[in-house]
Amino acid sequence: MAGHSHFDDALQYFTDAARIMDVPRSIEKLLVTPVRQLKVEVAIEMDDGSVQVFDGYRVQHNSARGPFKGGIRYHPAADDDEIKALASLMTWKTAVVGIPFGGGKGGVAVDPSLLSSGEVQRLTRKFVDQIHIVIGPSVDIPAPDVNTNAQTMAWIADQYSRYHGFEPGVVTGKPLEIQGSQGREEATGRGVALCSRWALEDLETPLEGATFALQGFGNVGSWAARVLAGWGAKLVAVGDHLAYLSNLEGFDVPALVDHVSKNPKRSVQGFPGADEISEEELFALDVDLLIPAALGGVIDVDVAKTVRAKVVAEGANGPTLPEAHRQLIRQDVQVIPDILANAGGVTVSYFEWVQNIQRFSWERSEVLTKLEKRMRKAYDEVTRLAARRKLDLRTAAFILAIREVGKATAMRGL
Ligand code: NAD
Repeated sequence: MAGHSHFDDALQYFTDAARIMDVPRSIEKLLVTPVRQLKVEVAIEMDDGSVQVFDGYRVQHNSARGPFKGGIRYHPAADDDEIKALASLMTWKTAVVGIPFGGGKGGVAVDPSLLSSGEVQRLTRKFVDQIHIVIGPSVDIPAPDVNTNAQTMAWIADQYSRYHGFEPGVVTGKPLEIQGSQGREEATGRGVALCSRWALEDLETPLEGATFALQGFGNVGSWAARVLAGWGAKLVAVGDHLAYLSNLEGFDVPALVDHVSKNPKRSVQGFPGADEISEEELFALDVDLLIPAALGGVIDVDVAKTVRAKVVAEGANGPTLPEAHRQLIRQDVQVIPDILANAGGVTVSYFEWVQNIQRFSWERSEVLTKLEKRMRKAYDEVTRLAARRKLDLRTAAFILAIREVGKATAMRGL
C-alpha cells in the first residue's frame, strides 16, 4: 500500500494502550524508539557468475528484559519500516509470554523462490558476515520467519561459528542435529491452535466440529491446521500465494501437508477435491474461526466488514490494520492478537536457547507441556485484564507488555 507504514500501525496499537495507562510522553518515546537499526549490503555471486546485491536489515528494538530476539525473513517487501514494526512487536510479544528477551527482527529484501539453494546459502552466509558483530547468544538471537527455516538457521549458526566459535544459542529454530529443540517447528502453529481452542471454548463453541478458514499454509498455518484438525476442527478453506481453495466437507489436512511438501512451488494449488475461491471469499466465509497466517496488512477495513468468524487468531504478524481491528471489535469478533496468538514460536525458541546454554536437551512432551503452560498463563492474564477493564484482547495484551517493559526499563535506568 502506497504511503502505508507498518511501523505506524504497530505504534497505533502501542499508543492506544499507553494512553489508557497514562504513560508519560517521554517514556512513550523511549519505549517505541529502536535501540539500533542496521542496514547492510548483501552481495553474492549468482550461479551464472553475475553479481547481485540485496538489502539486509537487523533492527534491535528493546532489550530492557533480555537479549534482542526475533526472526529473519526473506521477502521482496522487507524494508526498514516493516522490519522496525516487526521488531517492536517482538518486544511486546516476549513480555506478554513472560520470557526473558527483548525484541528484534531482521530480513533480506529478496524473493528466494528465484534463487537456487546454493545462492540462498551464500546470501545467508554473507548476511551473517555483515551482522555477526551485533548478534550473539547474550546479545541478539535470530530465528526463522517467512521463507526461512531450520536449514537457514543451520547456515547462520555455522557462519557465526567461523567468527566466534561454536555457539548454538546464537540462533533458534535450528535442526535437531545441531542442537535445535524438539517441538520448535510446530510451536507457533500449536500456540495459535491452543489460543483458538481456548477462545472458542470461552464462547461456548466446542472445537470438535468447529469450522476454520486459513490464509497461509507454511510453517505456522500448516501446523495450526494439523493441531486443530487433530482436535476435531474442520478446515473448510485455505489460501496461499498461488491459490485459494474451499472444501465444505473439511480438508484432509495430513494429505494437504503432503501435497504442499511435494509441490515444488510449496503451494496448496492443485489439491484435488476442492473448489477454487477468491481471497475475499475466504475472509468472508461463515466459519467459527479465521486464521491469517501469511503476511501482514491483509485485513483492512473493507475485509473486516465481511468477516463472519467468531474468532480471528492472528498467526501472522500484523495481519490486521488498526482501523480494521476497531471494525472487528465493533462486530463483536474476538481477535486474539499476534503478540499472544503466535507467541508459541518464540516461547519454544526460548526453551531451545535454555537447552543450548545448558548443553542439555529436553523431550518433546516436556517442551509441549511447558509451552502450553506458558501460553495458558499469558492467555488467562490477557483475557482477565480485558474482562476487568472492558478492553479488547489486543489492548489488554499491550497494556501487560508495556507494564513489564516499562518496569524493567525503570529498574535498569538509562
Ligand atoms: P512460511 O514462509 O513458512 O509460510 C508463509 C505462507 O504464506 C506460505 O503458505 C505462503 O504461500 C503464504 N503467502 C506468502 N505470500 C502470500 C500472499 N501474498 N498471499 C497469500 N499467502 C501468501 O512463513 P511462516 O513462518 O509460516 O510465517 C507466516 C507468518 O507467521 C508471518 O507473518 C510470520 O511473521 C509469522 N510468524 C512466524 C513464526 C515462526 O515461528 N515461523 C512465529 C511467529 C509469527
